[in-house]
Amino acid sequence: MSDCIFCKIANGQIPSTSIYEDDKVKVIFDISPATLGHALVLPKSHAANVFEIDDELLAHAHIVAKKVATALKEATGCKGVNILQNNGEVAGQSVFHLHIHVIPRYDDDDAHIKWTPGTQDTEKLAEIAEKVKAVL
Ligand code: 5GP
Ligand code: ZN
Repeated sequence: MSDCIFCKIANGQIPSTSIYEDDKVKVIFDISPATLGHALVLPKSHAANVFEIDDELLAHAHIVAKKVATALKEATGCKGVNILQNNGEVAGQSVFHLHIHVIPRYDDDDAHIKWTPGTQDTEKLAEIAEKVKAVL
C-alpha cells in the first residue's frame, strides 16, 4: 500500500527508532504513547485489520508482542502490560494497517483501558452462539 504510513515505517521508507526487527515485523515506539514505553508491533506486509491478515503472520506478530512485553517489563520496571489490537473505526482503530499495542502499566498511570461491566442477555447470546458455531 503506497500511501500507508505503517507500511512505510515497517519497510524503512520512513525512518524510525526500532526496538526489534525481523523479516516479518518491526517494533517501534508509539508517537503518542499511552504510557512510557508504549510500543507497536507492525507486520511488514499490509493487512488493514484482523479480518484480512494471514494467520501465520498474526501468530508471529503476537509471539513478538509477548517477547517485547517481557523485555519492556524488565526495562521499565512496569507492573503489568496490556497487549491489545483495534479493528475498525468503531473499535478505536485510527491507522488501518494492523498493529499490536504493547502498553506497559504503572501504578496511577493515565492509560484508562477499562469498560463498564454490563449484564448478559442470555437469549441473545444463545442466538449468537448458534450463528458463531455455524461460521466456525
Ligand atoms: P490505533 O488507534 O489504530 O489502534 O493505533 C494507532 C496508533 O498509532 C496510535 O496510538 C498513534 O499514536 C500511533 N501512530 C500514528 N501515527 C504514527 C506514526 O507516524 N509513528 C508512530 N510511531 N506512531 C504512530
Ligand atoms: Zn500498510
